[in-house]
Amino acid sequence: MITRPVALMAVAAVFLAGCEQKPPRVAPKDPAVTVTSSAETAVMPDAEDAADDPAIWVHPTQPERSLIVGTNKQRGLVVYRLDGTEVSKRDDGKMNNVDLRQNVTVGDFHGDLVAATNRTDKSIAVYTLDGDAGTLTPVLSIPTGFEDPYGLCMYRNVTSGDVYVFANNSNDGMVGQWRITANGTALDAEQVRNFNVGSQAEGCAADDENGVLIVNEEDVAIYAYAADPEVAQANNNARQTIDTVANGHLTADAEGVTVLKSADGGGYIIASSQGSNSYNVYDRAAPHAFRGAFQIGPTSEVLGIDGVEETDGVDATGTSLGGIYSEGLFVAQDGFNYDGIKEEKRAHQNFKLVPWSQIREGLKLPAPAVADATRAETAPEAPVETARPD
Ligand code: CA
Ligand code: CA
Ligand code: CA
Ligand code: CA
Ligand code: CA
Ligand code: CA
Repeated sequence: MITRPVALMAVAAVFLAGCEQKPPRVAPKDPAVTVTSSAETAVMPDAEDAADDPAIWVHPTQPERSLIVGTNKQRGLVVYRLDGTEVSKRDDGKMNNVDLRQNVTVGDFHGDLVAATNRTDKSIAVYTLDGDAGTLTPVLSIPTGFEDPYGLCMYRNVTSGDVYVFANNSNDGMVGQWRITANGTALDAEQVRNFNVGSQAEGCAADDENGVLIVNEEDVAIYAYAADPEVAQANNNARQTIDTVANGHLTADAEGVTVLKSADGGGYIIASSQGSNSYNVYDRAAPHAFRGAFQIGPTSEVLGIDGVEETDGVDATGTSLGGIYSEGLFVAQDGFNYDGIKEEKRAHQNFKLVPWSQIREGLKLPAPAVADATRAETAPEAPVETARPD
């Protein structure tokens, strides 16, 4: 139970957060490069903490028409275009985290699935996404049995094609895993796993190709577990610690986390180090070495996008979305959105978009090998052409 003085303090803190400047910056533990946004989404309709977690949907043939699904934890889900404009929204409950998988086949069902933790009815809300229309259609509600479903991520076993949803309970560190099943085209789900990470967890992400589940224990660490329930059972739910708050590169909360898959099969794990308004980058491959930190600063006055602070959810793709996003896209929730870059006029929360190439170059990470392969393929052709004049 919250005692009255604490409740009053909490109310006062919320009031201040809504009207005053953001809290003073805590410097990241490591030197952090500063990147800038290329776009920001339309703002939430609600004041205070509303935006929380994004998921990127990649258009299969026209990547510039890719979409971002974001949670509004006060009322539902919103779908945005890459220029940040809103395509559609649903007011279906207090959606906290969201994730998606494209081209899912389960039984006779085939489509793109979006899952979100719905704190209103303590469920996992599952939708199909019509990417061309940018609209969500509810297809399944999975009761979690949790008092307060909080973090969420999806996983697909690339061998079997089985699709799973992970959700965790706020406060106690419990994580559940459900397998999506189908009777004909009608979707259902069965719980296949339940475990505890220790204390409050939220952000999670799965690396499908490597069968890895990454979970952030907010005050403590980032872990890698086996994503498949059978593997987890066989290894007693063993985990590897990727980084810690106490001795590592994280400043609590360890919030959102995502896996950026490079076109060459490599890639990175990116985690929000919320307390230092920064993001940590680790190798996707074990042992997940720390590769550096970055922050998102304000753009020029012309572009007029403020920097990013106190990020909850993040998502990233290493798939080319064309143009400035030819190496991929990173999306982060902004806890303190402003009109323009001066931080004078507070606006409702939103999501910021950053070209992955800017982050990769800032951290001096190698260019994806596929770009080298393209150069290697075209390089030999050029001399052949120029050697023909005779
Ligand atoms: Ca927040
Ligand atoms: Ca997400
Ligand atoms: Ca949190
Ligand atoms: Ca901001
Ligand atoms: Ca959150
Ligand atoms: Ca702004």
